[in-house]
Amino acid sequence: MDHFDYVDGAMRVEQVPMAAIAEAVGTPVYVYSTATLTRHVGVFSDALSALDDPLIAFAVKANPNAAVLATLAKLGLGADVVSGGELRRAVAAGIPASRIVFSGVGKTADEMRLALELGIFQFNLESEPEAEMLSEVALSMGKRAPVAYRINPDVDAGTHAKISTGKSENKFGIPYDRALASYAAARNLPGLDVQGVAVHIGSQLTDLAPLEAAFVKVGALVAALRAAGHDIRTADLGGGLGVPYDPALPVPPSPADYGAMVTRVTQGWNVRLLFEPGRVIVGNAGALLSRVIRVKQGAQAPFVIVDAAMNDLMRPSLYDAWHDIRAVKPSGQRAAANVVGPVCETGDTFAMDRDMDVVAADDLVAFMTAGAYGATMAGTYNSRALTPEVLVSGDKWAVVRARPPVETLIAGDIIPDWLKSVR
Ligand SMILES: *Cc1c(COP(=O)(O)O)cnc(C)c1O
Repeated sequence: MDHFDYVDGAMRVEQVPMAAIAEAVGTPVYVYSTATLTRHVGVFSDALSALDDPLIAFAVKANPNAAVLATLAKLGLGADVVSGGELRRAVAAGIPASRIVFSGVGKTADEMRLALELGIFQFNLESEPEAEMLSEVALSMGKRAPVAYRINPDVDAGTHAKISTGKSENKFGIPYDRALASYAAARNLPGLDVQGVAVHIGSQLTDLAPLEAAFVKVGALVAALRAAGHDIRTADLGGGLGVPYDPALPVPPSPADYGAMVTRVTQGWNVRLLFEPGRVIVGNAGALLSRVIRVKQGAQAPFVIVDAAMNDLMRPSLYDAWHDIRAVKPSGQRAAANVVGPVCETGDTFAMDRDMDVVAADDLVAFMTAGAYGATMAGTYNSRALTPEVLVSGDKWAVVRARPPVETLIAGDIIPDWLKSVR
């Protein structure tokens, strides 16, 4: 459910007409709804209400905008970060370090030092060499780092190959079969306080079965580690719950179904459970608003050329992702069209032969469910300005990241002395 609705024939987000935002900020622009964010946090938290003090750590990489993070911080979420930059963003947005988990396969010594200085809740380690480095860094600071190992359960998440992370051939985590040996080695590292187990098998999961299979393995490992004398106090079950993109596909499991499964599977584990939802919190809370530049004839369907491109929303070109594309002011007519951006790549295609609202030059369209892995992946390919972002709350709205002038892009490059003399 979201808060993008049609009132008197035109799309609004909460109480703000989309057209008003396009008029004031220009297009393309990402638009986020506070009401939808709030609703999703509530639904996810309610789904876990049978658990004792779960830590819900929002996966910052899904949407790191400071205003979005501040909204989620106010609602009590923690953060799952995968870089020093994300860690700084989370703290700057008001998320206490005691609610921050640090994931990622390539943490550097500098990033470890920063996280230790701030006093984060947990490092999710992904290899034995990483454990050794963290122990050394912590010792050099006179500290002990609270850690879990992310295990690779060798479960097929049944999602797109580029967002599947829990198969043995993927780069993530330590092999399940080696876990006891890795934990035994970690216990001997004096800079570490081994407190938990972590797992994350992939994103946009539309079936609970692979998640359950992974969690069952985590439960067995918690028991085996305790039997081996480890004081396991946390289990991090990762993120990954899918959201509906294409109404023609079956609806992904609800947070309530997910919560019920987790509550059942983790019964008797006697740990604090951690969760790292990203997409399910922010996905439906955002849309990419764009204007049609022109429509050109195609061999079959017409090409609708919009002012958003793959640099603004990479998911279709990167993951073959499907986004609903709606006219902001639909005429009522529908027809098949190809929706493309202006970038000089065939991959800059949002939809082919899509049955959609008929649109013409200057009409506004919205790419729905673009709040997760949208603006955060935007770039400046083809020397396009970075996409701005707007946050709406009721009848209020604010630019929460401005569109930088293209001059700043050009000014960012530095001409070396030997080229200056040429002029
Ligand atoms: C990306 C990521 C998440 C969030 O995944 P979603 O599918 O957005 O819920 C959680 N944990 C880790 C370790 C991740 O890399």
